[in-house]
Amino acid sequence: MLSPEVISAMYPEGSTLPEWDREDAEKMVEEVVDSWLALDYKKYDFVAVETDYSAYGMHGVIDLLLRDKESQALVVIDWKTSKNTLDATWRQRLVDSYQWRMYAHLVNAQKVIYRGINRKLEKKFIEIEVPKDNYIVVERQLLGINLMREGVKNLSVWPLNTQSCYAFGRQCPYYLDCQGDTMPRKVVELTPLSYSQMQDFLLCPERCRRRRIDPQGKGEDSEETSIGRAVHAGLAEIYQQAFTL
Ligand code: SF4
Repeated sequence: MLSPEVISAMYPEGSTLPEWDREDAEKMVEEVVDSWLALDYKKYDFVAVETDYSAYGMHGVIDLLLRDKESQALVVIDWKTSKNTLDATWRQRLVDSYQWRMYAHLVNAQKVIYRGINRKLEKKFIEIEVPKDNYIVVERQLLGINLMREGVKNLSVWPLNTQSCYAFGRQCPYYLDCQGDTMPRKVVELTPLSYSQMQDFLLCPERCRRRRIDPQGKGEDSEETSIGRAVHAGLAEIYQQAFTL
């Protein structure tokens, strides 16, 4: 049973998450806490929760940062919620991702742990030991993308990659504007790059610009994103309380 503080964190004022999704989100939080909180408490010291780190021209919100009591190594924990089964493809996508590389580089962590849970309460985890040359890989990637962004920064519309209009199995929310050439013309300021902005930019530069104009990203908020946000907020509140009270 989740406390009123956790429930308030999960559903801030104005939350429109329907009742059936709330039930799923709360079950997912309870399942994660039952599986991992006691183990984490025993093995790690608390460093930070849901904190936005910025360095090297990039930034990222790290779900949970802990320090191994024995080795003193910093460990990034990233929660992954999914509606799908946590299969080999799920695993490989995360292992291949630049997200863990960026997060590890941001805080100089030695390990990144992905912990996944889906609506059926299936759970999986992936532990990645960060290689010593990780910073080279990350900085090369950032340099390349930042050079590309520099090239378009004075344009009021960025290049369109129409091959990405149905990425993730659904129509891009900016599709009609792109088809009608009615997108708002606006030069956007370049700011430190987040992992999702990096992904957006590589997928379609114009999509990245549109999301910068619409910072809440309302146009792209799916049901699963809303549940994921509630689960993250609930876990952040619980870990903060458990380690610091
Ligand atoms: S912004 Fe969206 S609709 Fe427009 S080209 Fe890019 S992916 Fe396609």
